Amino acid sequence: MAKVTFRTDMCKGCGLCVGACPKKIVVLAADRINAKGHHPAECIDESKCIGCAFCATMCPDCIIKVER
Ligand code: SF4
Ligand code: SF4
Repeated sequence: MAKVTFRTDMCKGCGLCVGACPKKIVVLAADRINAKGHHPAECIDESKCIGCAFCATMCPDCIIKVER
């Protein structure tokens, strides 16, 4: 199983990673706001992650780390 981590406080909530995930497990957290005032991206079900790193590749700010 792959591990996906987000530097949550740096996320600008652009949503590019959400659209990039083929497993549809990356979302913008509707119930949280980070230090920058955005809803940060998060993985809702890491057990489904295939470690493709499409999310990390898409992120313009290098906020996502994928470990396989
Ligand atoms: S590594 Fe791939 S499957 Fe896992 S969260 Fe990122 S885009 Fe989705
Ligand atoms: S692509 Fe990066 S900055 Fe944009 S929502 Fe995803 S983690 Fe945040």
